[in-house]
Amino acid sequence: MVTLHIGIDDTDSKKAMCTTYVAAAIFDDLLKMGLTPMMRPQLVRLNPNCPYKTRGNAAVALRFRVDPKKLYLVKDVVLRRVSELAELECEGTEPGVVFYVSEEIPEELRNFSMAVVRRMVSVEDAFSVASIVGAELHALKGKRGVIGALAAVGMDRIARKTYELIAYRVRQNWGTFRRVDDSSVIRMDMVTRPWTFDNFDYETNETRITPHTPCPVLLGIRSLDPDVAFYAFSILRILEPIEKLLLFETNQATDLHIQEVKIAEIEENTSVSVEGVVADLPRVIPGGHVFFTLMDDTGTIQCTAFEPTKSFRNVVRSLRPGDRVRVYGGVKSKLGMHLTINLEKIRVISLAKFVRTSPPSCNVCGKKMESLGQSKGYRCPRCGNRLPEGLKTFVEEHRTLTPGIYEVPPSARRHLSKPLLFEELTTP
Ligand SMILES: [Zn+2]
Repeated sequence: MVTLHIGIDDTDSKKAMCTTYVAAAIFDDLLKMGLTPMMRPQLVRLNPNCPYKTRGNAAVALRFRVDPKKLYLVKDVVLRRVSELAELECEGTEPGVVFYVSEEIPEELRNFSMAVVRRMVSVEDAFSVASIVGAELHALKGKRGVIGALAAVGMDRIARKTYELIAYRVRQNWGTFRRVDDSSVIRMDMVTRPWTFDNFDYETNETRITPHTPCPVLLGIRSLDPDVAFYAFSILRILEPIEKLLLFETNQATDLHIQEVKIAEIEENTSVSVEGVVADLPRVIPGGHVFFTLMDDTGTIQCTAFEPTKSFRNVVRSLRPGDRVRVYGGVKSKLGMHLTINLEKIRVISLAKFVRTSPPSCNVCGKKMESLGQSKGYRCPRCGNRLPEGLKTFVEEHRTLTPGIYEVPPSARRHLSKPLLFEELTTP
């Protein structure tokens, strides 16, 4: 017997299918052939900043013990199933399948997987690593899918792994409204949190376990423990039939995508953690996005909290020049010009004193005066008295922000981002 590692990626489109469903179907096929899985199926999230990703940028790995004489048969079953289920007619869907026969995953392949989670990797890189380690790549249409498929194969050991229990819908319900009782989701969340996470967003008042696309997934319960995932599932009130249920091991909620860097080292389409000092007052722009400039001893970079991050923006808006913070987020370039960090988390380390200038009170009638513009002095709105700029008063702002770590709400969270909820589990 040998171990066959199977990687699958990019079988879905924005409108339909889901790579985990393709994998679940193949997992069933191989069980029916009498094969023994080496471990649970794995759902591997890749670089969330990749511009080509369909939705969550997920690939899947399956690992089975196979009789070497049956290898060709198993590969045939896998490739047929992927061709049958993948959204091949969709432009931009470029399914990739990888077969790798080995008892050990070599270091080169593990490093390749980490690179695909953290930055942009080319198809050429994938082919080069595959030829070094001896993996077999199948590009079913376009070659991009082989990158994720090979990365999934290389991620056999996930540090601080999590789980997702996925329930799939019967085919005739695909594309219809998902019938899962919201109040049972809240109940499940209350009972099983923090061992399950991202179940419900109390800020936007929406269920997070059901997707919004017409794909075969009914719901997914993210969990730190396999047993708790099934227990949580048992609490749900589900009002439609389920075709199958499969538990995946995942790298979700591990922060595996984040690299600690200095500002000068920041590259586009990566995810970073940077410590620095707030260099200016946060500004709010139309659309409700909030941004500020972060500075360290190597340079400056813009940091942005977008509108969908909701109340997280209040934290960003309360920052003042001189505050020391550590920011976490994905790096994008705006109009191909300068880079910006799309904030996912922020640790406020220390607060600076912030002094605001304020107009003086009128020395004739006592009314608060109004500024006539930058260094133009002040005018009293009641008696018309004028005073020069030099008479402004200084007021130290009472800071309402407190040092600590803040995160975006579940509805804006990346699959790979580790929720703050987990801190409770590691700190006594
Ligand atoms: Zn006056």
